[in-house]
Amino acid sequence: MASADFAELVAERRKTFLTGKTRSVEWREAQLRALHALMSERAQDFYDALWSDLRRNRVDADFTDVKFIADEAAYALRRLRSWMRPKRVSAPPFLKPGHVDVRYDPLGVGLIIGAWNYPIMLCLSPLVAAIAGGNAAVIKPSEAAPACAEAIARLAPLYLDPDAISVVTGGVPETTALLEQGFDHIFFTGGPPIGKVVMAAAAKRLIPVVLELGGKNPTIVHSSADLRVAARRIAQGRWTNAGQTCTAPDHVLVFKDVAQEFLRHLKEAAIAFYGDDPQRSPDYGRIVNAHHFDRLLNLLGSGEIHHGGQHDREELFIAPTILVNAASHSPIMEEEIFGPLLPVIEIDSVEAAIASINARPSPLGLYVFADDAKIVERILAATASGDAAVNDCTVQPLVRNLPFGGVGNSGMGKYHGEWGFHAYVNARGVLYRSTWFDPDVRYPPYSLRQRLRRLVMRFGM
Ligand code: NAD
Repeated sequence: MASADFAELVAERRKTFLTGKTRSVEWREAQLRALHALMSERAQDFYDALWSDLRRNRVDADFTDVKFIADEAAYALRRLRSWMRPKRVSAPPFLKPGHVDVRYDPLGVGLIIGAWNYPIMLCLSPLVAAIAGGNAAVIKPSEAAPACAEAIARLAPLYLDPDAISVVTGGVPETTALLEQGFDHIFFTGGPPIGKVVMAAAAKRLIPVVLELGGKNPTIVHSSADLRVAARRIAQGRWTNAGQTCTAPDHVLVFKDVAQEFLRHLKEAAIAFYGDDPQRSPDYGRIVNAHHFDRLLNLLGSGEIHHGGQHDREELFIAPTILVNAASHSPIMEEEIFGPLLPVIEIDSVEAAIASINARPSPLGLYVFADDAKIVERILAATASGDAAVNDCTVQPLVRNLPFGGVGNSGMGKYHGEWGFHAYVNARGVLYRSTWFDPDVRYPPYSLRQRLRRLVMRFGM
C-alpha cells in the first residue's frame, strides 16, 4: 500500500469516527463482545499461527495471547459503563453556583504498531483499550510473526466493525508510511531504538504516544529468599517463549553467600521443566528468526556457560542457558538479551544491587526475591522501573488492572484494564455554571473588588 492509500484509509476511519458511531456505549460493547467471540470461536487459527511463528505451546498461547485477549475484552465489557461515567468535581466558591464534570472523550483514530513476541496480545490488547475509549483504529502487526499477522488481518474484519477498525500488514516501508498519516494517537510496542523513530514521527504533528518498550530487567536474589521458589519462577519467567518476553528477567544479581545453591536450583528447574534434551520438549519455544538467532549466539561468548548452550540454527533452537562470570561491560550486559541466555552475577550487598540497577537505563520490570521486607523496600525506594514484582517475575502483566508500561528508556504511558481506557481518552473538564447569580465583583472596574476585600478584612471574615 502506498502512502496515498494509507491517507485514504485513515480518512475513511476518521469519517466513521466523525459520525459519532464509535462513541456510543452500544458500539463499544458490541465490539468488545465481537472481539471476545473472535478469540473464542477462532482460537484454533491463532494457536496454529502462534505455533508456526514461535512454536508456542497451547498453555502459553492461552495465557498470553488467545484467552488473555478474550478475558481482557470481557473485563472491559463488565466495567465499561463505570469507566465512561463522568466524574463530578466541585467548583470553588467564586465559581458557584457551578460544578465541573470530567468527561472521557475519545481521541479519534489510533494507530497500533505491534511487536512479534506476543503477536496477538500486543495488537489486540491495545485494541481493547482503543474500543473502550470509543476510538477507531488501524492495527499494524509485526512482520516478524507473519502467520499471526495474517491471522489477525484475515479474521478481524469478519468480527469487528470494518468501518472503524482496519488491519494493515507489512514491514518497515508500510510502518514508515503509516507514521506519516494524521492519526490522533499512536500506540507502539517494540524496542527503544524504533520507539525513538515513532516518537520523532509523532512529534511532527504533536500526536500523543504510548511507547511500550523493552530493557534489561534486573532480578535480585537476596540471601533471605526461598531459593528453590526463586529459581523455579525465574526459570519460567526467563525461558517461557525462549526468553523473548519484554518482562522476563534479563540478568540475575544473586547474593554471594547463596549463589551456588541458587545456581543448583536454577539448573534443576531448567532440566525439570524442559528435560535433558530441551530441543525435544513440546513446551519449549524457538527463536523468532535467523537474525535474532545469530545475535544471541554472539552474546554467548560474554560469559562462561554454566548450563545449556546447545543450539541448532536450522531449527532456530537455543537451549535454556545459564551464564556465569559475565563482565559488567561485556555485550550481554550492555543490551537487552531478549532470548534464553541468563547471566547470573554475584553481588555482596544491597548497595551493589542498587548501584548496578541505577547504572543502566530504567527497565520495564524489576524483581526482588527476598523474605526480608525491609530489603525489598530499600531496593524499591532507591530505583525506578515500569513495574516490579516481589518473589515473582514476568507475570505481573497478567494482573488485569496493573498499570502496565515502562518509565524512561522502557517507555511511557500505561495500559491494561482502566489504565488502557485512560490512555485512549481525553479527560475533558467542563465547567457548568448557572446564570442566576452574577455579581459585579467579578468584573472590572476592580476598585469594587478592592472595596469588598477591605470590608471582608475589617470584619475578620
Ligand atoms: P522493533 O522495535 O524492532 O519493532 C516493532 C515494530 O516496529 C514492528 O511492527 C516493526 O514493523 C516496526 N518497525 C521496525 N523498524 C521500523 C522502522 N525503522 N520504522 C518504523 N517502524 C519500524 O521490536 P520487536 O523486535 O518487534 O520487539 C522486540 C522489542 O520489543 C524488545 O525490546 C522488547 O522488550 C520490546 N517489547 C516491549 C513490550 C512492552 O509491552 N513493553 C512488549 C513486547 C516487546
